[in-house]
Amino acid sequence: MGFADIYRRSIEQRDEFWAEQAQLVHWESAPKQVCDYSRPPFAKWFAGGTTNLCYNAVDRHVGAQGDKPALIYVSTETQQERVYTFSELQAEVQRMAAILLGLGVKKGDRVLIYMPMIAEAAFAMLACARIGAIHSVVFGGFASVSLASRIEDATPKVIVSADAGSRAGKVVAYKPLLDEAIRLSKHKPQAVLMVDRGLAPFDKAEGRDQDYATLRERHLQAKVPCEWVDATHPSYILYTSGTTGRPKGVQRDTGGYAVALAASMKHIFLGKPGETYFSTSDIGWVVGHSYIVYGPLIAGMATIMYEGLPIRPDAGIWWSLVEKYKVTSMFSAPTAVRVLKKQDPSFLKKYDLSSLRALFLAGEPLDEPTAQWIAEGLGRPIVDNYWQTETGWPILTICNGIEKAPSKFGSPGKAVYGFDVKLLDENTGEELKGANQKGVVAIEGPLPPGCMQTVWGDDERFVNTYWKSIPGKLVYSTFDWGIRDEDGYFFILGRTDDVINVAGHRLGTREIEESISSHPNIAEVAVVGVADQLKGQVAMAFAVPKDASGLVDEAAKLKFEGEVMKVVEQQLGAVARPARVRFVTVLPKTRSGKLLRRAIQAVCEGRDAGDLTTIEDPTALQQIRELVGG
Ligand code: ATP
Ligand code: MG
Repeated sequence: MGFADIYRRSIEQRDEFWAEQAQLVHWESAPKQVCDYSRPPFAKWFAGGTTNLCYNAVDRHVGAQGDKPALIYVSTETQQERVYTFSELQAEVQRMAAILLGLGVKKGDRVLIYMPMIAEAAFAMLACARIGAIHSVVFGGFASVSLASRIEDATPKVIVSADAGSRAGKVVAYKPLLDEAIRLSKHKPQAVLMVDRGLAPFDKAEGRDQDYATLRERHLQAKVPCEWVDATHPSYILYTSGTTGRPKGVQRDTGGYAVALAASMKHIFLGKPGETYFSTSDIGWVVGHSYIVYGPLIAGMATIMYEGLPIRPDAGIWWSLVEKYKVTSMFSAPTAVRVLKKQDPSFLKKYDLSSLRALFLAGEPLDEPTAQWIAEGLGRPIVDNYWQTETGWPILTICNGIEKAPSKFGSPGKAVYGFDVKLLDENTGEELKGANQKGVVAIEGPLPPGCMQTVWGDDERFVNTYWKSIPGKLVYSTFDWGIRDEDGYFFILGRTDDVINVAGHRLGTREIEESISSHPNIAEVAVVGVADQLKGQVAMAFAVPKDASGLVDEAAKLKFEGEVMKVVEQQLGAVARPARVRFVTVLPKTRSGKLLRRAIQAVCEGRDAGDLTTIEDPTALQQIRELVGG
């Protein structure tokens, strides 16, 4: 069967298809039903079946490969490197599970994990899964206000944290931020479990704060059995990264997620037991959940957990790890590749990368120059994949485990099995079936296994936010624009809220960005729509030049601006020409590498920039503020 047939089967004979995939994981008792979609848009996958995520990720592999690497922890911040075998990981997870049980955590209770990229964070996630507790990992880069709102929403019984993270050698204390967040939150945890790395001394709240090392000593021999939970039991809550508005608690199930990840490891990420997976993401993001912790381990692979920057001690660090641990699949983001692109390209050639089957990239549009640079530099295949926190695994990509289809620059690929992806007219809801028509990327329900069950504690918000934005239809909106070519390849054109309306013409900011980026001296650019009395909106561009040495004065900048405008005019037409192209040294991004267009737009319109706790470099917004005179 070719991919097209398998894809069709996954949609038309959904239950049979997924019943087969379900055999990739361990079931303590078999599901009674594959998909219960009697109450759309709420899908229940594998209801009646019992399983456990931790069992599938850890215990299941102890028999056949107990002494093989499971978790490889590398920190270039604290110069630590430690390999945990599956047996050792099982022991650590049981210790952590025993500690959590001792602190009163029961099945269904929430445990909030606010931690840097250390092995204990993975132990904590797996320990929660083991005992049926629901974890909510909050990215370590968040400060107290965002953390407080997540504590209030998830109402955790216990919070697991650490004294500090470290970034580029600088200690970032977590504990004061956590203390402040708990103070701000109406909900208070019963206990705070502190992993003390010895990086930053901290105040201890008597009766509340517990020391992990001390409790671990008491539970060295702990045996904590896996709690068999129903497939529909929530495994975790993860708040979306927050590029657009108030964060939503994405709630994930257990059985569907295990099946979806196991299948994706086989068909998309090409992982086999005994091999090594390296995802450069952070456990605070969905990629970290699916493809640092659960996916690779479920597949019986070793997974690398890396704390540090891609360019320290030098830009060869990642590739040295690929060589050392014979990494077979690697997962990163275009933004990280762009960081490397500013470094000496010889680092890409310095190590033996022959073990690497492919580098997978996701999280934002992969522009052609970046894709080409890394593909040529590494001499390995590059595979783009498009998905969301909400879906938990790829919606669009090339499933190389099923067919060796060529990739096309600028396209993350075709609809993945299980995802009934449609392009819809945003006003009429009509399906756009022809090639190269632009519409909203939508998914017909039920969403496949592994996708969000609901918004934590707010079913109504789940329905209203995701399923009611297209008129006349109950259909899931990704809130991204896309087109599909005659071969079924999709191209993502930007977010539906990134569209600007210039004198009645609707323009995607992303199309303008692509055009500006094609100028040889532009490294990166952000385009936003700014309110304008005359035209409704105008496009404003903020660009980072590759070489700014010529931009010595206003006249030079204006000349360069004119050049860039000309490129847009030639490629897209005068209507798409931005009102201004301003030059900056850095763009405001989240710590996960996403452009904060919403914040740039707010600054340009003289409004409050909103929640900026995830911002990578606050000076980036300051530069824009100064340019627009705000
Ligand atoms: P929030 O939903 O809180 O505003 P977010 O959408 O940035 O935050 P994520 O779920 O991490 O949070 O990101 C998913 C979005 O990232 C997609 O909807 C899409 O806009 C973009 N994206 C992800 N992968 C790709 C890709 N390969 N190509 C193009 N865009 C991508
Ligand atoms: Mg989103």
